[in-house]
Amino acid sequence: MAADRRIVIENCAIATVDGHDTEYASGHVVIAGNRIESLGAGPAPEGLRDVARRIDASGHLVTPGLVNTHHHFYQWITRGLATDHNLFDWLVALYPTWARIDEPMVRAAAQGSLAMMARGGVTTAMDHHYVFPRGSGDLAGAIIGSARDMGVRFTLARGSMDRSEKDGGLPPDFAVETLDGALAATEETVRRHHDSSFDAMTQVAVAPCSPFSVSTELLRDGAQLARRLGVRLHTHGSETVEEEKFCHELFGMGPTDYFESTGWLGEDVWMAHCVHMNDSDIAAFARTRTGVAHCPSSNARLAAGIARVPDMLAAGVPVGLGVDGTASNESGELHTELRNALLINRLGGHKEAALNARQALRLGTFGGAQVLGRAAEIGSLEPGKLADLVLWRMDTLAHASIADPVTALVFGAAAPVTASFVNGRQIVEDGRLLTVDEDAIARATRDEARRLARIAAQA
Ligand SMILES: [Zn+2]
Repeated sequence: MAADRRIVIENCAIATVDGHDTEYASGHVVIAGNRIESLGAGPAPEGLRDVARRIDASGHLVTPGLVNTHHHFYQWITRGLATDHNLFDWLVALYPTWARIDEPMVRAAAQGSLAMMARGGVTTAMDHHYVFPRGSGDLAGAIIGSARDMGVRFTLARGSMDRSEKDGGLPPDFAVETLDGALAATEETVRRHHDSSFDAMTQVAVAPCSPFSVSTELLRDGAQLARRLGVRLHTHGSETVEEEKFCHELFGMGPTDYFESTGWLGEDVWMAHCVHMNDSDIAAFARTRTGVAHCPSSNARLAAGIARVPDMLAAGVPVGLGVDGTASNESGELHTELRNALLINRLGGHKEAALNARQALRLGTFGGAQVLGRAAEIGSLEPGKLADLVLWRMDTLAHASIADPVTALVFGAAAPVTASFVNGRQIVEDGRLLTVDEDAIARATRDEARRLARIAAQA
């Protein structure tokens, strides 16, 4: 076998986000094939063979690639609607439009969502897709193909809804699947697309949408299905006070107790939001190592509240960051969520001690890898891990006068991405994607957004 080609990156600040938060003021990273071979202070070792490329990264900060842990790609073509609503009113306003999506719309929306994140330093993306109108084509295949074409590492959380208005749920009757249909299609998606290998580019999770849109049976059977297939579980939880009230009225208990009763707490589970959690809810997540996808911008947009991230971290709950769907976070960028997570949590009870810049960076990298079940492979820069990393430019007007590069990245303006590598392959250069045509994607997303709006207006 040919020796792995090496890429040498030198003269950069490095935040490894390893277990000791090791940082180098000026250091090097050596990529060999799809792995990080070595890193450390000063220049790369001399005498390296098969060096295909040497990058002088002066003026840059190198970090692990960002890991997004919650998103709904299809919402890229329904941005800017119902802008002054809370969660339940926003959902009820948008479900009828969402229920009209088809494969070309979902493909364009996936490309738009992925492109926006990838050029901002995301190297691992996820999509929680739960709207599968009858006859709408191979939506899972379209989403997974989009991630593969772009070269982004990816988890598809195959969602589902089977509790519609007639069963006391929130979605309209025509927007849901049957219990058996959802389970069968989810199993098929796992069997077709899930890769459990160390350097997998595609994984699949089982992901019924939320307590107010799925039946108790779908939660319970979904958990059993995931464990039978050896994949992870994802859903929305404890997002709003309205959801808490819904759970008490229908199930006679709060969301966390309801999840526990249906098999939904465990180290193979991560949940989006987790805003309305009391001390015993947080203790239950910590005891079971259930993960959380913290989505600060979406929670603010929908006036859901402030998740107790400092308390979760102190209790040992794994926490990552999420963009959430772009119908509730129009920017669709994860690097801005580092800043928003820090700022929004300081508005909570812990004030200025809530989170610091290093903790925010950890949430967006290693924390994300943890909740996606991939902490052994990605999320920090360590020899042997996969080469998913970002070169942030720190010597321009926006950041050059900020003393510390990690502080600059988190507190400062969104930093330009000079290069982003996934699995050892460069996918971004100077803020532009190398793998796809951004302008063509922009046109396609505009056209599909207009087509969806027309169809929804006629319905
Ligand atoms: Zn969501």
